[in-house]
Amino acid sequence: MPTPIKQFPRLVLALFCILALALYLLWQALLNAEQEQARARLQLEADALAHQIQTRFEQQAATLVRLAERWPQHRESRDLWTANAAQLLRDDDNLQAIEWLDASFRMRWIEPLRGNEAAIGLTYKPTHPNYPFLLAARDSGQPRLSNSFELVQGGLGLAYYIPLHRISGDVRRFDGFLLGIFRVEVLINDLLSELRAADRSLRFEENGKALYRAESDDQAAPWSVSSPVTLADNSNFVLVMRPTDQLLASTTTQLPLMVVISGALAALLLCISLMLAGRGAQRSQQLARSNHQLQAEIKRRQETEETLQHNQARLKLIHDMTDHSHDALFILGLEPLEVVYLNRTCWQSLGYSEAELREILRIAPNDIMPGAITWLKELSSMIHSQGDAIYQKRVTRRDGQTRPLEVSVRHLRRLGRDYLICVGRDNSEQLQLAARLQQLSHQDGLTGLFNRRYFDKTLISEWRRLRREQTPLGLLMLDVDHFKHFNDELGHQAGDDALQQVATALNSCLMREGDCVCRYGGEEFAVILPGAGASQCLQVAERIHNAIAKLNIRHPHTTVEHGRLTVSIGAASLIPQPQWSPHDLVHQADTALYQAKSGGRNRSQLSKPEESQPR
Ligand code: GH3
Ligand code: MG
Ligand code: MG
Repeated sequence: MPTPIKQFPRLVLALFCILALALYLLWQALLNAEQEQARARLQLEADALAHQIQTRFEQQAATLVRLAERWPQHRESRDLWTANAAQLLRDDDNLQAIEWLDASFRMRWIEPLRGNEAAIGLTYKPTHPNYPFLLAARDSGQPRLSNSFELVQGGLGLAYYIPLHRISGDVRRFDGFLLGIFRVEVLINDLLSELRAADRSLRFEENGKALYRAESDDQAAPWSVSSPVTLADNSNFVLVMRPTDQLLASTTTQLPLMVVISGALAALLLCISLMLAGRGAQRSQQLARSNHQLQAEIKRRQETEETLQHNQARLKLIHDMTDHSHDALFILGLEPLEVVYLNRTCWQSLGYSEAELREILRIAPNDIMPGAITWLKELSSMIHSQGDAIYQKRVTRRDGQTRPLEVSVRHLRRLGRDYLICVGRDNSEQLQLAARLQQLSHQDGLTGLFNRRYFDKTLISEWRRLRREQTPLGLLMLDVDHFKHFNDELGHQAGDDALQQVATALNSCLMREGDCVCRYGGEEFAVILPGAGASQCLQVAERIHNAIAKLNIRHPHTTVEHGRLTVSIGAASLIPQPQWSPHDLVHQADTALYQAKSGGRNRSQLSKPEESQPR
């Protein structure tokens, strides 16, 4: 939808059209007013002229009336009448002739007679066009003017009938008419003698028929005015006036044109001003819009800058915290391989400055981490595996100490390049703890010897190892004699103490690396003797008996060795064969132990030859 400002040119155009229409109507109204003014002026002139015609005619008619008043003398003396009539005709060019009609409407006298002889004796009949005028004049006693008629001499004439009377005594008798014949053209010319014909077109009409014309050539005005003219009670005459160009020019002014031109100029100026104002408003609107956009842009940039500063502060904080982290953090860029970032812990924990560490890593990374070059190649291949990995490494400090380092590596791809984020941690404590846990899991809680689980594992592993080497594996199974009684007599705590002393004595009897003593269960022990044949097993058993005897632990309720604690030992030795298992060895030693017990206790029994064969 267009905004009001965009519609502004259309509105201004519409306004201009309305103003132009209004100006046109105003122009027409002014022209009409001028025309009406001209018409009113011409009407006034026509009325004045009509009145003037009537007055002049009445003046001329009055001379005839005065002649008629002298009729009593004239009737007696025709010569006198002729003389007076001739005098009047000479004085007045309008008159064509002066005549006398008697009471029977018969022409009796005519002055001038010459040329009119034929009319003498002519009688007006009721069919004569002027007959009604005669009757009207006779009956009213007032003069009457006829309508126009053709004169015998040519041209148009008007007859003015003045009734005459003869008085004899007291009797007044009608005695015909004094008849004045006016020539129309001469009469009208005379009547209009003061008319400025150049300014007007004029027509004198009788019942619509033009009796006289005085018209200019131009017929510009499409209108005319008329004024009735009554001559001697004959109201059939009309004066028609039409303005000429000259008259129109004199009555019209340049005012309408000036008004229209000034109005058009004013309207044009108004519309141009409005258009300029509209343009101005549009420009200010555009300016306001661009200002708004500019402010939004400034605000956006400020926000971006604030965000940037905030991010920089956060980055600095993160960098700072990373530097103070307990863990060593380093970032490797791949292809080409380069150290992108090292935190403070990396170089401080190794005793170098950052520059020194970077230099060593560039020249001889193996000096810091044995096998580093191979490891870095391995890491580079992580691009394809895309996985995470944890490595256990060792690093060498500047002072020569080596420390374990657990390195957690994660592969990341950013901005079209592959990176490895490596977090290294000194896990020596963890490793020690793990080793301790491992040890605890293999140790017997009471005696500190290896436990039964360790015995099972070690026996199997030694069996396999010696099977490959085809070397004998010796095994001693020990059981404390009458230990139940010992406990019963001296108490369980004393029993525990005795077991601990026995364990220590057993450990002291081992001479070769790889020999180990395990608590097999309860008061039973097992001694693994890798590489020991039967005689070596018996030697160790002998040493054990001696060591136990040395302990000299009092046993209040025993059948052997003068009331001292003793042990019985079953010994067996086998060169492991694929068809045998470690259980066969245990079984043989166990059987020998049983035999030692039944043989009187406090003794050793070697598994008998026939028993040396596995079951
Ligand atoms: P023998 O000579 O036939 O072996 O007789 P013995 O009494 O030793 O017989 P036995 O093997 O049946 O008894 C073992 C006894 O050892 C039972 C138990 O009271 C004692 N014993 C086993 N383990 C422990 C231990 O951890 N501490 C103590 N104090 N006594 C134990
Ligand atoms: Mg036992
Ligand atoms: Mg026993």
